[in-house]
Amino acid sequence: MSTDGQLSELERVLYARQIRLPGVGESGQLKIKGAKVLLIGAGGLGSPAAMYLAAAGVGVMGIADPDKVELSNLHRQIIHGFDTQGLPKTISAAEALAEINPGLKIILHPEGLTAKNALELAERYDVVLDGADNFSTRYMAADACVLAKKPLVHGSVLRSEGQVGVFLPQAGCYRCVYPQMPNGSDVPTCAEGGVMGATCGVIGSWMASEAVAIILGQRTQSRLMVVDVAAGTSRVMQLDVAAECPACGVHPEIHSIEPAKYISGDCALSNHSMTDTPLEVSIEETARLLSSNKPPVLIDVREPKEWEICRIPSAKLIPMGEVAERLSEIPQNVPVLIHCHHGGRSLRVTQFLRSKGYNMVSNVQGGIDAWSLKIDKTVARY
Ligand SMILES: [Zn+2]
Repeated sequence: MSTDGQLSELERVLYARQIRLPGVGESGQLKIKGAKVLLIGAGGLGSPAAMYLAAAGVGVMGIADPDKVELSNLHRQIIHGFDTQGLPKTISAAEALAEINPGLKIILHPEGLTAKNALELAERYDVVLDGADNFSTRYMAADACVLAKKPLVHGSVLRSEGQVGVFLPQAGCYRCVYPQMPNGSDVPTCAEGGVMGATCGVIGSWMASEAVAIILGQRTQSRLMVVDVAAGTSRVMQLDVAAECPACGVHPEIHSIEPAKYISGDCALSNHSMTDTPLEVSIEETARLLSSNKPPVLIDVREPKEWEICRIPSAKLIPMGEVAERLSEIPQNVPVLIHCHHGGRSLRVTQFLRSKGYNMVSNVQGGIDAWSLKIDKTVARY
């Protein structure tokens, strides 16, 4: 294939349906061809992400993964197959990608992402995709991208939920939402986890789509998308730099990738998919948690006049505008749920609290209105 800034006849046919899209055209296809992407993790998310990026015509792809293909990977890691069991995932993935797009240049990093190579790798590529299955790698990738000023597309999945983060340089990073790396005891255990392969497909494909959008210059803001495949719902949260962020805030504390800072708990170091406290919980899950033996703290961030109309019995009122000055009333190391009327204001407060180190805070989807509709019809609607 040509490399001289023009598309070959073959490429014009191969990418015809893509070139036809508004915002792509031949110039967009050339940008895709000129792009160098780094894929961290050739697993459940990395498989579809890599395959779609290869098919889209990305020019160079680095693959960083230290693992070998195992039988238990195959239900979700569709880039690998029965015949590549036991091979390094980098090699297995490269073989599959060469079939999809012989024009793709593949660079293998079989040592995976490490504290030693993270910054160098982030600097070497244009866009980084992180589909890692452990917190050490996830935070290392996030910090390396902030330091190297490179865009990061993050993906993670747990059970039927997944999230895709687009973190552009100096526009809000992963740590703006999840400031501190949780230790092993704070995260769901490996045995509790588990995931459907198709859910990985949704999130991995979405990551590829966001990476292409970044390459085409179509993304100007950092954002986090949260998807619940089982419920059929998705939410988008626009992000800004959190002033307190340890990586990109006003007084950043992270100036290099120091290995000691990325040691996580036993569980998070193993090869299972997981995520930390969910950013959002459904109204049904909220009801279940509140009626459990150890109910979470429930905080209502609506205005007092709304509180007068209706309230959830166990909730404590802290209007959104007062949250910053009443932080001492919100416990830090226990599960906390935040709700408002429909879930919008409380999502902002959840993001704010997470930026302050409250890692166990979740937003209640749909707010008290969903509570009135689905859980307790005696709670007035307005
Ligand atoms: Zn940040």
